Amino acid sequence: LFFKKTYSTLSSAEIVAKEKSNMTEDRFEHCIGVSKTAQKLAELNHYDEDKAALAGFIHDYAKQVSVEDYREVIKTKGFDQDLLNWNRSIWHGIVGTYFIQRDLKITDSEILTAVRRHTTADVEMTTLDKIVFMADYIEPGRSFPGVEEARKITYANLDKGVGYQLAHTLEFLIEKRDKIYPRTLDAYNVWGIEE
Ligand code: GDP
Ligand code: FE
Ligand code: FE
Ligand code: FE
Repeated sequence: LFFKKTYSTLSSAEIVAKEKSNMTEDRFEHCIGVSKTAQKLAELNHYDEDKAALAGFIHDYAKQVSVEDYREVIKTKGFDQDLLNWNRSIWHGIVGTYFIQRDLKITDSEILTAVRRHTTADVEMTTLDKIVFMADYIEPGRSFPGVEEARKITYANLDKGVGYQLAHTLEFLIEKRDKIYPRTLDAYNVWGIEE
């Protein structure tokens, strides 16, 4: 595991070590899968492969930060206080970038935006945002009904993959009678509609 450019004052090895120590083994394996898949999607979509690999690798860095730490950061670091009504599923992207900047010293705004958007997506999505969003969904460790179709669609057309994921995530959340983060719905209205 090695990144040529780390977009950080830390070395590649230091980033890998910090990532590993901040999560479970399973989550770490997932991040490696997302990194490799992001690299492949970057190649297919003519994007910087090394940058996509790094963004994919760190995307869930803050997934297992404690609820207390999240609440404290949301209250004191200038975040929208409505975030206090949500949970770590939503926080680890949007607020997770706080910990990524603090601990991994990553300052690149494209990478931070891709992390911010990796769970909910957004109305505006850059190529890197789409790559990380989709790599997270289809990396080899993922197994859910429809994942093979999601892979096929995404490798053929990245934008259609984004629409597929948003539609299926909304179906899944509604099935569970879970709360929809408004940005997820806004993103669906842009990327999910077929006409
Ligand atoms: P992971 O971090 O690799 O597990 O994947 P994600 O970051 O993509 O998603 C984390 C969780 O957030 C998943 O279980 C999604 O279904 C869930 N999620 C995505 N959008 C929403 C939303 O609008 N509302 C809620 N409640 N959960 C969401
Ligand atoms: Fe995530
Ligand atoms: Fe995701
Ligand atoms: Fe993930």
